Amino acid sequence: MSILLPNGRYLVTGGAGFIGSHLCETLLQQGCEVIALDNFITGSRENVRHLLGNRRFTLLEQDLIDSLDISGGFAGVFHMASPASPVDYAKYPIETLRVGSLGTDHVLDFAVRKQCRILVASTSEVYGDPKEHPQKETYWGNVNPIGPRGCYDESKRYLEAVTMAYHRVHALQTRIVRIFNTFGPRMRVNDGRVVPNFCIQARNGTDITVYGDGSQTRSFCYVSDNVEGLLRLFCSDYPEPVNIGNPLEMTILQFAQFIIQFSGSKSKIVFRPLPVDDPKVRKPDIALAKRLLDWSPRVSLEEGLKHTYEYFGQVGRST
Ligand code: UDP
Repeated sequence: MSILLPNGRYLVTGGAGFIGSHLCETLLQQGCEVIALDNFITGSRENVRHLLGNRRFTLLEQDLIDSLDISGGFAGVFHMASPASPVDYAKYPIETLRVGSLGTDHVLDFAVRKQCRILVASTSEVYGDPKEHPQKETYWGNVNPIGPRGCYDESKRYLEAVTMAYHRVHALQTRIVRIFNTFGPRMRVNDGRVVPNFCIQARNGTDITVYGDGSQTRSFCYVSDNVEGLLRLFCSDYPEPVNIGNPLEMTILQFAQFIIQFSGSKSKIVFRPLPVDDPKVRKPDIALAKRLLDWSPRVSLEEGLKHTYEYFGQVGRST
């Protein structure tokens, strides 16, 4: 990775989560010191167990909604903490709203006190069920605030609003990433998202559950590409939101067929009810990331799935 990250100590909230743990690993590889913070409601110690022996790595169990106080100086903060799968945030709607609101306030205050740069993780969900396609950063979205996804969408919309307010009021150096569907090892087996579900179903030879008629679209970015995008954005001087995702769009039915073909599984496709407010289309416009960060995804779906499918095989054996 050709990024000149300022050396020093970094705080990663949600550091034991899926993307957070990969980010911690990469920061350590870059020679940084990392303090990972997690309350483990959806993150897991297993995700960072291999980092615990590194003397530049510290894992703290802490809930961000209480407050945030860690002594010493920091070169930067990555605020990644939040439930992020529709099944998780439906199970923890209040925790999701609180970590995006109170938790974000605490992390921003922390960055002001430490006088350091902060990157906050937003999401393509801020576009809701989009009426503009593909989604550019200039699109304001189509969100149902009171539906089952509202807890996540609105907490992240607040996160963006309060981050811009801190930027304007405190001249805080802020970076906002809108993360589109991302996949890879360390996604939780039972987080309910389409990639773990389909991989595990294909592995076990059980039915592949396509919700609705499968005509809704998504595009999947491999986690190493995502982390590179986060680090490039962190190092940039752009305070407003930037999409990071893979623009290769497909229907969920095509994705199910792809997994069956890729794995050689005997699984059959079955159709199940479409969750309420499930976005019909989603595809990032990444022109801004290309221009600003010279970033675009490099890992193909096939290559990324190879690692992910293998991972679910290992996890399946050890549980
Ligand atoms: N989905 C599906 N079968 C599953 C899980 C998800 O068809 O077993 C669909 C879901 O309805 C959505 C898409 O796959 O249209 C992506 O869902 P996911 O939960 O991964 O994330 P989202 O993009 O909705 O946040």
